[in-house]
Amino acid sequence: MAYARTVLTLHAAPLVLPMTFAAIPDGAVLVDDGRVTAVGTRAELVAAHPDARVRDWPGILTPGLVNSHAHTQYFDFGDLAGSGLPFPEWLHQMVARRATFTDAMWQESTRRGLHAYLETGTTAVADIVTEPVVLAAIARSGIRGVAYLEAVFADDAAWAAGRRTEFLAALDGAGVPVRGVSPHTPFTISTGVYEDCVAIARDRNRRLHPHIAETMQESEYVLSGTGPFADNAKQFGLDFSDILDRGTGLSPVEWADARGALGADCHIAHGIHVSASDRALLRDRGTAVALCVRSNRILDAGEPPVAAYLEEGSPIGVGTDSAASSPSLDLLDELRALRAVARGQGYTAEDLDRRLVEAATLGGAAALGLTEGPERVGRLEPGVRADFAVFSVPQEALDGVRGSGASSAPRTDPHGVLIDHGRCVATVLGGTIVHRKV
Ligand SMILES: [Zn+2]
Repeated sequence: MAYARTVLTLHAAPLVLPMTFAAIPDGAVLVDDGRVTAVGTRAELVAAHPDARVRDWPGILTPGLVNSHAHTQYFDFGDLAGSGLPFPEWLHQMVARRATFTDAMWQESTRRGLHAYLETGTTAVADIVTEPVVLAAIARSGIRGVAYLEAVFADDAAWAAGRRTEFLAALDGAGVPVRGVSPHTPFTISTGVYEDCVAIARDRNRRLHPHIAETMQESEYVLSGTGPFADNAKQFGLDFSDILDRGTGLSPVEWADARGALGADCHIAHGIHVSASDRALLRDRGTAVALCVRSNRILDAGEPPVAAYLEEGSPIGVGTDSAASSPSLDLLDELRALRAVARGQGYTAEDLDRRLVEAATLGGAAALGLTEGPERVGRLEPGVRADFAVFSVPQEALDGVRGSGASSAPRTDPHGVLIDHGRCVATVLGGTIVHRKV
């Protein structure tokens, strides 16, 4: 029996940003059977592959963006992002809302969230999953990344009484893409549960992704065992007696390190309330930080030291956090906010736009451990899966980047043009167009 030969497709654009090498004006990406097989100029690839079908896109073609911290299942909690409540009160609202959700509602909310990623050019996500019932929807979507099963609101007794067994059943369940463990925070699970989550992840060679150093109240709780999170634990009936009312004398980063959580197989969400020595510890451990500045602002959590992370060379990714604390799941929106924070903190170097786009591609890939082999993401190079996005930008901006306009001014940084003007008009997942607006 004869099989039809796979159709080669050449996706061309006025500018291609492969990320692992220089931008290519009039570039193209050759896709064969869902994978990128060549990246180069449109002209050279057309000449080398005259049989390829050519698809010309407008604007800038980039690797699919990588969201380093999100909770897709909370997409339908968007009204909470406008509640104006600070974190401890917001958490109460989250708990109350969660109790009203059925399995079908979780699945529907997740499907809408996954769609929101694809509409905005995101093709890989570090997705915190609290309800295992949503895992199948994530797997079916074809979106890459790591689903981190979350342990939250559990003390030692609840964990031993059945929560641990449930957690392991979901983690080891067949047919779903769970590749990570998320011990939520020091104030929502006991030290014993946290340490067990770390051990579970390491035993199974899974990645770790906790929330660390998000609020001042968290720092107070870990340091001295007091404050709103101590009150919350008591109110929720959680036995956190090893920290409650006595504290540990540590910062949240030091505490997580003492639990053995930090390492190159771990990235943390937020990293706001961190000292220079906390940041040095994170770097020493090879632990990346997923920055989510819009969520931080909405929850009145503070501002992460973006300029310091950049100046010190800390590994960073970019996350939207959940729709319950973020105005959108659009990573370019997040980059615009992140750039404003970095500039506001005095980061003046000209590499800012490039480093931020890198954080939303290569940095995310590193944070998720997806930098090697056929599953690597955040780059366009031969061998990777054909996951990419096309962003329209105004013609003048494009001319500035390509140096083809009437002006003899120096070429504009393409990363800045993308952040300033990019609007996702197409997303391709494994060679298939899954979103298109042109
Ligand atoms: Zn989060």
